[in-house]
Amino acid sequence: MSETKIIDPWGSSKIENYKHVFSKFGLKEFESYNIINNYLFNRKIIIAQRDFDKIEQCIQNKKPFSQLTGIASSGSYHLGHKLDIDFYLIFKKLGAKSKFVISDIDAYISREDYKVPNLDKSKEYALDNLMDLLALGVDKDDIYLQSNQKPQYYTLSYEISKKITENMFRAIYGHSDYGKLGSVLLQIADILHIQLPNEFGKSPTITGIGIEQDPHARITRDISKRCNYDFETPSFFYFQHQSGLKEGKKMSSSEPDTAIFLNDTSDEVKRKINKSFTGGRITLEEQKEKGGQPQICKIYEIFKFHNADDEFLNQTFNKCKNGELLCGECKKNCVSFLNKFLKEHQNKKEKFKQTALEIINK
Ligand code: SF4
Repeated sequence: MSETKIIDPWGSSKIENYKHVFSKFGLKEFESYNIINNYLFNRKIIIAQRDFDKIEQCIQNKKPFSQLTGIASSGSYHLGHKLDIDFYLIFKKLGAKSKFVISDIDAYISREDYKVPNLDKSKEYALDNLMDLLALGVDKDDIYLQSNQKPQYYTLSYEISKKITENMFRAIYGHSDYGKLGSVLLQIADILHIQLPNEFGKSPTITGIGIEQDPHARITRDISKRCNYDFETPSFFYFQHQSGLKEGKKMSSSEPDTAIFLNDTSDEVKRKINKSFTGGRITLEEQKEKGGQPQICKIYEIFKFHNADDEFLNQTFNKCKNGELLCGECKKNCVSFLNKFLKEHQNKKEKFKQTALEIINK
């Protein structure tokens, strides 16, 4: 389906024309880059927002605000998911009362059976995802699974169902698949329930999403104003989705060669990086003469999204542009950067298995 009509949050295509989406759906450009000195903010990875000024005021005036972020447990986490988690940790550091949902019911009901055949499979993924989250620094008390939620959460999601008609769902998503409808009801409940009196209470809330998830943001904000609860309308920020390793794709669990997974072995990383799309020229001579194109290169993008070293990033950009750095050497740098991070992460992750099991069996 064309991005000019409907955005498909479940699809694997990457939106290229961000500005068009901004104007069509009323997103505002993100400008609050100076709220924290962090490489993801300094590099302007966040591109758009809805009502972010409420959150900025809370941060500046040390007023309470909350955040809800989550990922469906439909496979192993990859670098694209790490970005969601990095942003979650930044807002936690900025003072947000925080919850991170592992959407295990959503993973099963909104995907085809060959991807997630039953709830047991999504819980199996959830265990692995939990170990990643804990190893990356997410607090165990902040994490919940949809299937372990309290009755009030389910009550809220059923009440939300009364506010959505089939026509409305079709207008936003382009279809009326009941599994996906069910997953949307849960996602809205995830974002809104943190404002219930026995959760964090009414306050501005922030959720970070990729631009492809905007249909969920629009419907959540609409419902928050029309349901029988006293909710603050949720705010959202939108970050650039990390590209897949192939041209024109997102990193996707369904297409393993588009992504570097947090479970990948060093050989898998080497193989995938060596095959990935770069901004290099056809011949070495041409590259030395004209320079490469880091702005379209997947290797450069990995450094931009995950390597906090500004000097290294600038050097890679400049040396690529003037033809001093060739893709073979650059890919080698990328493989060693990723494998160093993944080795440390995977060692750490194993230590969190027991805690992860406790969260699953709560
Ligand atoms: Fe990409 Fe590096 Fe090649 Fe430049 S030198 S195009 S940044 S892989």
